[in-house]
Amino acid sequence: MPPTFPPAMFRRFLLSSLLSLAGLSQAANQPNILFIFCDDLTTQAISAYGDKRKLLQTPGMDRLAKEGIRFDRCLVTNSICGPMRAVIQTGKYSHLNGFFNNSNSTFDSNQQTFPKLLQKGGYTNAVIGKWHLMTDPVGYDYWHVLPGQGAYYNPPMIDNGKPVKHSGYTTDIITDLSLEWLKNRDKTKPFMLMMQHKAPHREWEPPIRHLGHDNDRVYEEPETLFDAFEGRTKAVSDHDMGIERTMTDGDLKLKPPGGLTEDQLKYWNEYYEPRNAKYHAANLTGKELVKWRYQRYMHDYTACVKAVDDSVQRTLDYLDKEGLAENTIVILSSDQGFYLGEHGWFDKRWIFEESLRTPFLVRWPGVSKSGTSNGKIVSLLDLAQTFLDIGGQPQPADMQGRSLVPLFKGEEPADWRKSFYYHYYEYPVPHRVRPHYGVITDRYKLVHYYKPDVDDWDLLDREKDPLETKNFYNDPAYAETVKELKVELARLQTEVKETLPPPRKAHGNKAFDGEPEASAPTKKGKGKARAQAN
Ligand code: CA
Repeated sequence: MPPTFPPAMFRRFLLSSLLSLAGLSQAANQPNILFIFCDDLTTQAISAYGDKRKLLQTPGMDRLAKEGIRFDRCLVTNSICGPMRAVIQTGKYSHLNGFFNNSNSTFDSNQQTFPKLLQKGGYTNAVIGKWHLMTDPVGYDYWHVLPGQGAYYNPPMIDNGKPVKHSGYTTDIITDLSLEWLKNRDKTKPFMLMMQHKAPHREWEPPIRHLGHDNDRVYEEPETLFDAFEGRTKAVSDHDMGIERTMTDGDLKLKPPGGLTEDQLKYWNEYYEPRNAKYHAANLTGKELVKWRYQRYMHDYTACVKAVDDSVQRTLDYLDKEGLAENTIVILSSDQGFYLGEHGWFDKRWIFEESLRTPFLVRWPGVSKSGTSNGKIVSLLDLAQTFLDIGGQPQPADMQGRSLVPLFKGEEPADWRKSFYYHYYEYPVPHRVRPHYGVITDRYKLVHYYKPDVDDWDLLDREKDPLETKNFYNDPAYAETVKELKVELARLQTEVKETLPPPRKAHGNKAFDGEPEASAPTKKGKGKARAQAN
């Protein structure tokens, strides 16, 4: 005879049985996903990646590498903030998801995205921090985002559609809000949390606690700080993103940022004012000026990264404390890499390695092998399908990446990609980087700068020229290589459904700004999360 319960007790018994079954099935099939995403964080600033300059120690991120997998060649499809976020949401290239650039694209949130599919598959989703897609997030049970680029200090934010104002340092606030959401989330479901930092985006404003973190050390300079672009095309040499020609007083902290409280400004000035006075007295010019700027840039950038690393440590500790670590996949990445003085640059955009490659660390307890690395070409394009695969959901056929789950498990699929397609659009503002597309392999990159006043080809050979300071395109010794790469480029363009020449319209957006075909009034995003440019 089955036990008899009063109806209310029976309902409770049934409910708790179902919940525990759900818990079991979650443990087996639907692990939690914590995606820690940074803005303009680059591998050179993460100690686990072993940059020879040793710019900074990052014990939090290094812990992820030590307990998981370090991917050494995670590439972006279009090295700039908003567009890569759209690629992650959709698993599609810019020309199909319609978000081409930061200056005039608006994300069409009616299209298929991975969070919508995960939500249907039983997950509770949240996005907290930088969003930058100009329309409100869809597919999330909770969202609390910065408008546009957001501020480093005392940021206004949007809490599920409602404007709110916070006090303090944004990296810390995003961490607090994320841990708070984890604490209060619907615990009957697996979660997918996108914890998205603004840092270390320009203008690299450090937290007060890390001002002077480097004790005024002298940072080693990159070998190409004074790259003169000899023998290079106009497309490469005629940029506006140089430490020498482009950095502003705000970038260099020769004036304080707006929006600080009286107290914050006091500590800020205590650090910068005496150093700025010395700088002014020295009256530097030419190379000496560039060298000084590089040092200031490294202090500020690494201080911002240090705060992100604090956040990673706090978050991993929280997972440990709450017993969540075992059943949560943690992925740390960034929307692209960044130049820390290489070629004399800051910023991103180019197909060159520093901004093409982005950090990618994965810890999946019981699945990923600790302390390993993987050099295969993977991409943020793969994330949508990866997240769906992790959550046991089908991967739509029109997504253009490939699930990374087999690589997380240590498998080596024989048919893994050997080449990758890239396309950058934003021109001329803010940094005068000509639109370009290209094919990337382990060794080579063949690039076409096609617009508006250039028609330049570049062939990079990372084996012969790891710093990417030479163009082998017209070298007769490479004629066969160029021919083969052009065939591969055409094959990839067909595969990704590229149509040339651009521009074309997708999801209401034009690929190019400031041209006759894009001269219609810029569409205003109806969402409150609209971004400003850059
Ligand atoms: Ca970015």
